[in-house]
Amino acid sequence: MRSARRQRGRRLELRRASSLEDLEDSLFLAGGTELVPLLRNGLVRGESLVDIRDIVPRGIDGQRIGAGATLAELECDPQVPEALREACRLAASPQLRNMGTLGGNLLQSTRCWYWRLNWPCRLHGGDECFAREGEHREHAIFANDFCASAHPSDVAAALVALGATLRTNRRELPVAELYRLPSEDDRRTTTLADGEVILDVDVPAPGRSVYLKAMERKRWAFPIVGVAAARTDGTTRVALAGVAPIPWLLDGSVDAATPLPRNAYKVDVAKALVRRAEAALDA
Ligand SMILES: Cc1cc2nc3c(=O)[nH]c(=O)nc-3n(C[C@H](O)[C@H](O)[C@H](O)COP(=O)(O)OP(=O)(O)OC[C@H]3O[C@@H](n4cnc5c(N)ncnc54)[C@H](O)[C@@H]3O)c2cc1C
Ligand code: SF4
Repeated sequence: MRSARRQRGRRLELRRASSLEDLEDSLFLAGGTELVPLLRNGLVRGESLVDIRDIVPRGIDGQRIGAGATLAELECDPQVPEALREACRLAASPQLRNMGTLGGNLLQSTRCWYWRLNWPCRLHGGDECFAREGEHREHAIFANDFCASAHPSDVAAALVALGATLRTNRRELPVAELYRLPSEDDRRTTTLADGEVILDVDVPAPGRSVYLKAMERKRWAFPIVGVAAARTDGTTRVALAGVAPIPWLLDGSVDAATPLPRNAYKVDVAKALVRRAEAALDA
């Protein structure tokens, strides 16, 4: 089925994929809560758009979760570990969670306003990180030398702490390896190749897990800091949202952070949440 959507000043062909073999070199659309605004604002461009909702699995079957499952489905399913359920419940608004899928959440772009307003910053291929010298209260406190954006996904942090694995149409990989820090040579923040589709996620059941989130409002806000912790057989993994350009697996102490002049408060927030998350696992 084909139709057309408007992309800033141009028409964009929309097609529904009916099989994995049916994927052209196109943009993929799931719930559209992230991609449609990016297209409208000219931040993402393409010749054609493929709706992948008929070919991406969506159910929850024990440890295996279809990438097409919505956050609303995940937040209330008892098969889903607590940290992931809570990360979904605390994300966005009920309407967005009803439309937004797991796959789309993992691949959302930065909320850095310089990037969203199309400033020619390093993540857009330019020479400068405007946030480092400018407004960076909500930005990264780890790995922020090149680009100081803060990864906005609560869900990705939970999956990294849970040691989850992704299956795509081409490979299997730990969720942590879906992400890469942008650099001078390669500005991308994910390792997903063109034409690669996330199909499902395997989430091992931990002994216990928890997700805690500090945000500007009680509801419908991206994480200032999100902390996911999962403990299995005495080993605890902690991963953070909102503190680095990618979901951040904590290897050592939050004291290793390198905050910018106006976001050092995030170090204290992260320390407090890590302490509380570990206490919750001990309780
Ligand atoms: C106002 C607002 C507040 C929000 N607050 C939060 C929050 O607090 N915490 C949080 O974690 N998130 C938050 N989000 C993000 C929200 O959860 C995502 O927009 C949503 O989950 C994206 O899913 P989607 O299916 O709509 O993705 P789409 O918009 O359809 O796609 C997003 C991207 O993922 C790609 N994609 C989608 N599925 C696949 C797949 N299976 N394989 C390969 N590529 C794929 C698309 O090509 C596109 O590049 C917020 C979003 C908004 C707009
Ligand atoms: S933090 Fe990253 S996205 Fe934001 S201005 Fe700097 S380079 Fe661009």
